[in-house]
Amino acid sequence: MRLDDIPESGNVEDRRGMKTTGLAAGGGGILIVILALIFGIDPNQLGLVGQQGPLAPQPEASPTSAPRDGYKQFASKVLGTTEAVWNNLFQKNGYGAYKQPKMVLFSEAVKTNGCGSAPAAVGPFYCPADHTVYLDPTFFDELERKLGGSKAEFSQAYVIAHEVGHHVQNLRGYSARADAKRKTRQENEYSIRLELQADYLAGVWAHHAERTFKILERGDTEEAVKTARAIGDNRIQQKARGWVSPEGFNHGTDRQRAAAFTQGLRTGDARQRKLDLFFDEKATPFNPKTGELRNSELFGF
Ligand SMILES: [Zn+2]
Repeated sequence: MRLDDIPESGNVEDRRGMKTTGLAAGGGGILIVILALIFGIDPNQLGLVGQQGPLAPQPEASPTSAPRDGYKQFASKVLGTTEAVWNNLFQKNGYGAYKQPKMVLFSEAVKTNGCGSAPAAVGPFYCPADHTVYLDPTFFDELERKLGGSKAEFSQAYVIAHEVGHHVQNLRGYSARADAKRKTRQENEYSIRLELQADYLAGVWAHHAERTFKILERGDTEEAVKTARAIGDNRIQQKARGWVSPEGFNHGTDRQRAAAFTQGLRTGDARQRKLDLFFDEKATPFNPKTGELRNSELFGF
């Protein structure tokens, strides 16, 4: 991935190396524990938002040194490209002003402003309440080692762009459509619709970022696709327990996640008609037996 002359976003905060105290016990914060390492879960999706007490005080953070490993710069450049792309696409499609998200780098655990607290084990996530993407960069070591994904730069950029995709969904009302299905029999189906749309939006970002900034180098897209496949529900279930049950899917299968990203990358199409298709039960039916959506325009199958 080529990022040398990309402008850095000013919206990244590096909290790595800070001590977060009183995480589990403190001020109404909820410690979210997830057994499997899954990428893309936001605490909001766990149904915890609204169960919290009054807003917890900020953690007592001692500004010890964040590692000077260049990661903040990398993250700031990737976020910078998402800002440029979505500013432009919001304007072009009449979506109003694009309100830029923030991004927080953390290590071990983090306290959000409205989504409770989370250990690094949840993987990267987006908190809709504070419009912030949370990322512990060591996640990518786990992704590669335990899940067979890629920690190449463009693969990491795809993960960031997926989380920014959740922010776009928040602004455009798609998150609310999935939220409305909570605690119904369609909860997982709508989670899959949302997650696959986020993968598609990551692809749309890549398409326009390449056009504007020429970020792609040989082999980059393959690395991102490798990750999209590695974090498919079927692959994670197979790794975690040795068997697969589609009724437990909530992010999409390996081939469907890869297809959604690839279609976004190929078309760059962020028009409302296209985006609405992900939530159109007639045009894009859900098969509970396979846990997959069907729409040739969105997935090629
Ligand atoms: Zn996600």
